[in-house]
Amino acid sequence: NAVSYFSSSTSYTLAVQQSDLAQRLTMEAELHQAIADDDLYLEYQPIFAGNGQIHAIEALIRWRRANGDIVRPDIFIPIAEESRLIIQIGNWVVHRACHDLARLHRSGFENLKVHVNMAASEFTSSTLPDELRAIVDKSGIKPHHLCLELTESMLMQQPDHVIPIMSMLRRMGFGISLDDFGMGYSSLAHLKNLPISSMKIDRSFIMGLPQQSEDRAIVRTIIELGRNLHLNVIAEGVETDNQLAFLRQFGDTLIQGFVLSRPLHVDDLIRVYGAELDLPVTTNR
Ligand code: C2E
Ligand code: MG
Ligand code: MG
Ligand code: MG
Repeated sequence: NAVSYFSSSTSYTLAVQQSDLAQRLTMEAELHQAIADDDLYLEYQPIFAGNGQIHAIEALIRWRRANGDIVRPDIFIPIAEESRLIIQIGNWVVHRACHDLARLHRSGFENLKVHVNMAASEFTSSTLPDELRAIVDKSGIKPHHLCLELTESMLMQQPDHVIPIMSMLRRMGFGISLDDFGMGYSSLAHLKNLPISSMKIDRSFIMGLPQQSEDRAIVRTIIELGRNLHLNVIAEGVETDNQLAFLRQFGDTLIQGFVLSRPLHVDDLIRVYGAELDLPVTTNR
């Protein structure tokens, strides 16, 4: 009957929540230890200009557990966000990324930029701009070499807190990219006033290219919008030659995805792309 159905489903839900909680607390403790043990590391996925040159790289965090398993950020970043570990991790990521970028600059990747993903809680901290400046200064790169990625949905959670911090960061010279664009609900009116330098078209729209006419229309429209707002547009998650060919019609669109390169360890990045470095890296925005 209805009553027992509801009561058993409630206790079932409660049990699931409790085991979720236990699992989360375990993972949180392990993650805490991982920071102490230096078990986090970064991979870098290139972002290519239309002419095939590397425009920037995006830092993507990974966690190597003691048993050798690699944990992806989609699993542990949300846990870190709930526990304030995210501030410590975020700081480490920016440090590591700026330090690696300085090394890449010295290795001939002149003017290369690094993109770093930020969590919502990092972006509401008013001390973020000064902290970033200190890290950038110490590593010897310039603010325009560092681009912070935040998602549209993050932005829309607390626009009144986040937008002033974004504006300050832009004034200081940092780049800001709107990640997973098209997945949130920011209005176009809002977009007009956002202090951003680029946007990344979410992979879900790229997946349907070139067959799906709706995806073709959406992607064309975002590219056009970006041009009109003087923003760099990056297509992310490009996996096939056909998707690539479609996007290459728009000469100014930047491209990131497995079809061109997977995320790489910094040493591999130097090994694979270092040889091509007679070519200058592009410098638009
Ligand atoms: P994101 O910033 O949107 O990054 C894109 C994700 O798509 C990455 O997954 C990347 O490895 C993957 N990807 C790239 N090209 C392709 C492709 O062609 N096909 C497919 N299927 N996937 C592709 P990853 O590294 O697992 O990162 C997942 C998410 O975790 C990121 O999404 C970002 O939101 C977050 N994240 C990663 N690193 C950090 C970090 O250092 N800090 C914070 N706060 N979040 C991070
Ligand atoms: Mg990103
Ligand atoms: Mg993305
Ligand atoms: Mg994403």
